[in-house]
Amino acid sequence: MNETTKANLLGLTQPQLESFFESIGEKRFRAGQVMKWIHHFGVDDFDAMSNIGKALREKLKACAEIRGPEVVTQDISGDGTRKWVVRVTSGSCVETVYIPQAGRGTLCVSSQAGCSLDCSFCSTGKQGFNSDLSAAEIIGQVWIANKSFGTVPGKIDRAITNVVMMGMGEPLMNFDNAVAAMQIMMDDLGYGISKRKVTLSTSGVAPMIDELGKIIDVSLALSLHAPNDELRNRLVPVNRKYPLAQVLDACRRYISRLGEKRVLTVEYTLLKDVNDQPEHAAQMVELLRDVPCKINLIPFNPFPHSGYERPSNNAIRRFQDLLHKAGHNVTVRTTRGEDIDAACGQLVGQVMDRTRRSERYIAVRRIGDEAAPSSGAADRT
Ligand code: SAH
Ligand code: SF4
Repeated sequence: MNETTKANLLGLTQPQLESFFESIGEKRFRAGQVMKWIHHFGVDDFDAMSNIGKALREKLKACAEIRGPEVVTQDISGDGTRKWVVRVTSGSCVETVYIPQAGRGTLCVSSQAGCSLDCSFCSTGKQGFNSDLSAAEIIGQVWIANKSFGTVPGKIDRAITNVVMMGMGEPLMNFDNAVAAMQIMMDDLGYGISKRKVTLSTSGVAPMIDELGKIIDVSLALSLHAPNDELRNRLVPVNRKYPLAQVLDACRRYISRLGEKRVLTVEYTLLKDVNDQPEHAAQMVELLRDVPCKINLIPFNPFPHSGYERPSNNAIRRFQDLLHKAGHNVTVRTTRGEDIDAACGQLVGQVMDRTRRSERYIAVRRIGDEAAPSSGAADRT
């Protein structure tokens, strides 16, 4: 077998790994041993697996591998935030961000190189779409980050307490791989992260929210961004296919299945003069009246030529107060890792766009630049 036909064990869930061992004529319990080596100890070399006999190690070397995405860069911000750029099989690069906070550490993981859903304020969307990440490439981001905290044999590192699928891409558009990766995150043989602390964020692919509820019970975040269909159709185009009523119904069903007082996280990116007015807050209160939720406001993180601005601190506070007075639990997300461009919506990676959307975006930018010459250009005339 050559390199490319070897089975990559990194992205296999426990049942999948058990089937793999069975398929090569070995006992299923080997799956547990190998998973611990891979995920607890960060091992990628079968020879390091000391509780596995030499004959089986040789057999594994011939037919399998443990291969994460290639790390292109790793940056550490002044505030402790870390960012990795990793290259995936398709040749594109995606980003992973680790955010340390008092008592916890959250890893923000990418699920696709680019995104086909084209939300108007998202730099990932503006880059078009290249490829789905494999399960190994998704869990590989956790594997790489975990290793960077100096995992030592005999000690499971607990630097990563939470994982959010809020990096590049729409996880529900890469369903099977995102689910497999989340199953490994929660498995005690993987990273042992509680189901409450693994969060899938979606822009609202309603039918897949129902599918998700049939097989997994992770926390769910909905990227709302607008309290009515007219505005949401413009900001989050997938809303034209799955309008608000349909998406919120699916979210309600998902949350009610979880029971145990769990709630939906509603994310709302605040865009100056677009969705940050008191009337939007009032509509949001009405819309979420019977949705058990907590609201997370994300002040827009600018990127070049986005056409949007971040609201003033006063406008953000006013919006938060209005929701709060209506009885909502509302937090405002603080920007972390600004010095390494690690903020939400600023993740750029390096997407080899197959949709040609990025070309159109660049063309529009050029036309915009020509229509509004800078003062420097005017000075030269
Ligand atoms: N595709 C998924 C997950 C990735 S985006 C989703 O849309 O939910 C993660 C979050 O960042 C989403 O809530 C998204 O709307 C938000 N976001 C995107 N661009 C942003 C920007 N420029 N500023 C602030 N938040 C942004
Ligand atoms: Fe895709 Fe999410 Fe960005 Fe929308 S906000 S374009 S769904 S990554």
